[in-house]
Amino acid sequence: MSFNQKIEFNIIKSRRKTLVIQVKSNGEVLVKAPIRLSDKKILSFIEKHQGWIIKKKHQIINNPKKVLKYIQGEKHYYLGNPFKLDIQIGFKEFIELSETCLIIFTRNKLNSSQIKVILYDWYRRQAENIFLARFDQCLTIAKTHGIKDRPSMNIKRLKSRWGSCSSNKNISLNLELIKMPIHCLNYIIMHELCHLKHMNHGKRFYALLEKLMPDWKEHKLVLRKRMHEYGAMTF
Ligand SMILES: [Zn+2]
Repeated sequence: MSFNQKIEFNIIKSRRKTLVIQVKSNGEVLVKAPIRLSDKKILSFIEKHQGWIIKKKHQIINNPKKVLKYIQGEKHYYLGNPFKLDIQIGFKEFIELSETCLIIFTRNKLNSSQIKVILYDWYRRQAENIFLARFDQCLTIAKTHGIKDRPSMNIKRLKSRWGSCSSNKNISLNLELIKMPIHCLNYIIMHELCHLKHMNHGKRFYALLEKLMPDWKEHKLVLRKRMHEYGAMTF
């Protein structure tokens, strides 16, 4: 189906309650609608958001997702800093950071998917210490603003979100945050901690976030602007 000959889109009707428009990473526009909603209403919704769809498509075309190859010399990010991948042979498997390189020592010559596994194991080991330390620091601040719970925290590889907070007070942080500057990690932790008091992104949620982290918008912007450049969530 097309609209004003400008936007091509597909509609999927299902037993959902809300109408959403998604622009996928390949530029495809997907409209998900409740079964009973009339085509007229769906079309007027799309028309209303035409500008947003076009802008979003542009962003995707001009800023395509980086495809990482895990090869010698490729740039990879750790805590917001770039490092060149340097693959060497060693007596055992380990990773060393120099000022400019992330040196991966392997016992044998490995293919890129094996290199990726080693790199991600290392990312996870770093994240386990760093995320927990930051989590505790943020929690200390949150406690002074009435957040009494001690939530559990785990590290996950999520495809499209930086973190989440479940109703049984478990906070998940995306391992990909290890690629971003540390202040971005703090922001995501604070954001999720605010969900302990307010599950939705309502006014009260943002009022609390503002108190805990007055400059949260800056961190959010950095995450959004740099995630593609830093190769975060590229799997
Ligand atoms: Zn949230």
